[in-house]
Amino acid sequence: MTKKQRAAEAVRLLKEAYPDAICSLDYVKPHELLISVRLAAQCTDARVNMVTPALFEKYPTLEALAAATPEEIGEMIKSCGLYKTKARDICAMSKMLIEQFDGVVPDDMDKLLSLPGVGRKTANLILGDVYGQPAVVCDTHCIRITNLLGLTTTKDPTKCEKELRACLPMEEANDFCHRLVLHGRAVCVARRPDCANCVMAPVCKSAKA
Ligand code: SF4
Repeated sequence: MTKKQRAAEAVRLLKEAYPDAICSLDYVKPHELLISVRLAAQCTDARVNMVTPALFEKYPTLEALAAATPEEIGEMIKSCGLYKTKARDICAMSKMLIEQFDGVVPDDMDKLLSLPGVGRKTANLILGDVYGQPAVVCDTHCIRITNLLGLTTTKDPTKCEKELRACLPMEEANDFCHRLVLHGRAVCVARRPDCANCVMAPVCKSAKA
């Protein structure tokens, strides 16, 4: 089997196991996803989902977020960690979206990357989830599991994304990344992968009998 064939089979097997490929961060508006992903850095999605309802209720629009001070935002997101930096980014990002992008989250990688606190992982998530564009979200689960599968050879997120773009069927890539998160929590858990119960074992280079 070529790498592309194994990648396609991994995509198929995971799709069967997890038909619903949904983002584990709760959001309604595009900018809310942007902010939730920023909050999720070195924090769990579950924790972020506990914090954002009150945040988005108090600041329901980009204008409201942009008018708030980092200190005010920081008070509401403290439990997510790194709150001072995150609050600063959220305020600056909201202002920039209004001033430079007419209040619309852009559908372009370079424009997204120009926003404070936005890296390729976040930009890919926005492009894939909000705009339905081909995207590869290289988070910790994606990098770890695709390395184990033998589809990637690096822990570097940018290089990993490039390797995956070369072998994944791109129309499935975004959903595949969401499913890898689910699989990384349920079966291919870090340091104790349950290979005996893994649907991708037939195509995994690291599968233990
Ligand atoms: S076979 Fe094992 S190492 Fe490979 S993806 Fe499944 S759980 Fe992870």
